[in-house]
Amino acid sequence: MAFIYIVSIKSADPFWRKPLEAGIQKTFGIETRFVTDWRIDLPKTYDSARGQYNSSGILLQLIEAPPADAVKILGVAQADLFIPILTFVFGEAQLDGIGSVVSLHRLNNKYYGLPENQMLQTERLVKEAIHELGHTFGLVHCTYPACVLNKSTYVEDIDQKSQEFCKECRQDLEIMLKGLRFGKTIR
Ligand SMILES: [Zn+2]
Ligand SMILES: [Zn+2]
Repeated sequence: MAFIYIVSIKSADPFWRKPLEAGIQKTFGIETRFVTDWRIDLPKTYDSARGQYNSSGILLQLIEAPPADAVKILGVAQADLFIPILTFVFGEAQLDGIGSVVSLHRLNNKYYGLPENQMLQTERLVKEAIHELGHTFGLVHCTYPACVLNKSTYVEDIDQKSQEFCKECRQDLEIMLKGLRFGKTIR
């Protein structure tokens, strides 16, 4: 049995857990495992000048010693994440690798001065999680606006896309999933 590990990083109330697990299972056809006790040294990734956390630093800690039954690992952080060349990121993933991480921080309406909406935040999280996991399956950005692999710069971009892969991305994903189930073949 192989799992997509969902690692909750310092989340006091993971209200998003059930829809996230269901969305990932449905999309990739792989069981999920939810863990809260992964050892993450968050302060180590903190940049005091920016007041944000380095997403690559978190990603490194997630992939350091993956469990033998982990197909993919997805970290879900409360913290606001960045990579040095960008002011922030919603998430980051290894292209055709094992690890990915997403942030809830800017998916929260409160961040934009609006009333909190946990349902909307969860919807956004599911989309961004599927997006980043798509990258771990070797898929790159898609120009089709409704495709979950469409690149999101602003939260409005997340809201306009669906949580589904478009037909072409879905075909690419199926090839990668087949390789996972039967082992990579060569001829
Ligand atoms: Zn992306
Ligand atoms: Zn697509």
